[in-house]
Amino acid sequence: MQTFSGVGVAPGRVLGPVRQMPKPIQEPAGPGTAAIPADATVDSQGQRIKDAAKAVQAELRARAAKASGEGKEVLEATALMAADPMLVKSAIKLLKPETPGGARTAERAVWEAGGTVAESLKALGGYMAERVADVLDVRARIVSELRGLPAPGIPASDIPFILAAEDLAPADTATLDPNKVVALITSSGGPQSHTAILARALGLPAVVAAPGVDEIDDGTEVYVDGAAGTVTTWPGEELRAAAEAWAVQASTLAAFTGHNVLADGVRIPLLANVGTGADAVKAADAGAEGVGLLRTEFCFLDRDEEPSIEEQVSAYGAVFAAFPGKKVVVRTLDAGADKPLPFLTNADEPNPALGVRGYRTDHSSPGVLERQLQAIAAAEAQHEAEVWVMAPMISTAEEAARFANLCQAAGLKTPGVMVEVPSAALTADTVLSHVSFASLGTNDLTQYAMAADRQLGPLATLNDPWQPAVLKLIKLTAQGAATARNASGQPKPVGVCGEAAADPALAVVLIGLGVGTLSMSPRALAGVAAVLKTVTVEQAQQLAAAALAAPSAAEARHAVRDKLPVLDELGL
Ligand code: PEP
Ligand code: MG
Repeated sequence: MQTFSGVGVAPGRVLGPVRQMPKPIQEPAGPGTAAIPADATVDSQGQRIKDAAKAVQAELRARAAKASGEGKEVLEATALMAADPMLVKSAIKLLKPETPGGARTAERAVWEAGGTVAESLKALGGYMAERVADVLDVRARIVSELRGLPAPGIPASDIPFILAAEDLAPADTATLDPNKVVALITSSGGPQSHTAILARALGLPAVVAAPGVDEIDDGTEVYVDGAAGTVTTWPGEELRAAAEAWAVQASTLAAFTGHNVLADGVRIPLLANVGTGADAVKAADAGAEGVGLLRTEFCFLDRDEEPSIEEQVSAYGAVFAAFPGKKVVVRTLDAGADKPLPFLTNADEPNPALGVRGYRTDHSSPGVLERQLQAIAAAEAQHEAEVWVMAPMISTAEEAARFANLCQAAGLKTPGVMVEVPSAALTADTVLSHVSFASLGTNDLTQYAMAADRQLGPLATLNDPWQPAVLKLIKLTAQGAATARNASGQPKPVGVCGEAAADPALAVVLIGLGVGTLSMSPRALAGVAAVLKTVTVEQAQQLAAAALAAPSAAEARHAVRDKLPVLDELGL
């Protein structure tokens, strides 16, 4: 038995065999540096390429037949690419000794041919350019097949397993089958990484930043505790019993009534973070009282060009339709850093997290924001949802004022800002004097307050929203909103839509710091509601004071968790 420690990012206690995510395929050496086997002929190498392409296609087809929804479509599209005779033909040409630069090995020929096809698709733009990722995926699969290595991507399996990886990218997620993967464990990635966000969205227990878990042998049985942040190999009786007990608890935690109140009857609406209309339907089914964050860039992540106004109206309308009469907070495009959009951001920036991203792209690509606001207003007119609109990455009061003017010009009545840059939190009173509400993006607020990239596992302890500096910035924001009162003398509303809202213990602290709504992945709603209903506002304020007084993130977390035994009872 060996225990690996990391950061627990989604609760749950489960057992299962490990399957490792294959490491990304390395570029094969170029002509002149890689030896071509002495007995190899152009024909024999060409046959190897043809066989490998056929094997990849057959494998993808078999998986597509068993998959459903978006995963099935991705697999079918990739299988079609693998069958493309163009790719195989141009690879075979590169095997010939008369090729400029000399003959390539079979692996190198496939690599270069795939690269050329990808370049030409990219140059065509539009729909064709969106196929670039599929071609590169097929190329990696054929090269793996030629090398006798496991195919890249989520491993296929007939039995449920625990997926281990260094980290997961957004592109890996389309083929992740939540009925097969029972937990995620990674050696890298932080609490705000894609792995963490994906795990919460799918309701899978997850531990990130646990060094060594990407080296556990395939098939090893492990116990994962997603609240404690531990992974234990070959678990004994006690841990088996804990996993069984969790299975029972999880079913009682599965439901949220859709009307969240504290123990003293104070209403704290629990909202959902969504990226598409389909997500919104699931969120409404899970009892979400509205949408606290519509990440509009998620509707267009694979796009090379700005979506038309009509397309935008239909994408946003699909979300509004799921919440008639309820609040839906739309965030304008937050492109950049971990969410690049080719039509808005520059991939060559030296430091994208500090670059022209979020609201700042309005300077580099004028007009895109105005057209988006127009589309949001048009979608609002077709539906019953109560639409609020906010800008990401606002840093100054001038930016907030300009955004409010743009919203007004588009006919949108409730403009707001995300507070995720420390400067906005420190000047929240003036920033909020220009807009109607603020939503704290604790994922970015933490990375910028601590100067720690949210994607990096080794910085996970810095990148923790329990850090005293982050809690102080949240408190300052709530105080600023109380100073910047609205026309009827009420404090301006402040919510949290970062991942911090999904941590039930931190949710209590956030309420105590003066936050009025929490928005999270729908799967987290029931757990957060179950804990909030056990505390009064006064108790939340006491716990917030205890957290603020603690000298470190770990001590703040312990101080609060110690006073909330319900967390352990519920396995949260
Ligand atoms: C945040 O930064 O907390 C947030 C909610 O936005 P995103 O995770 O999309 O950057
Ligand atoms: Mg953000």
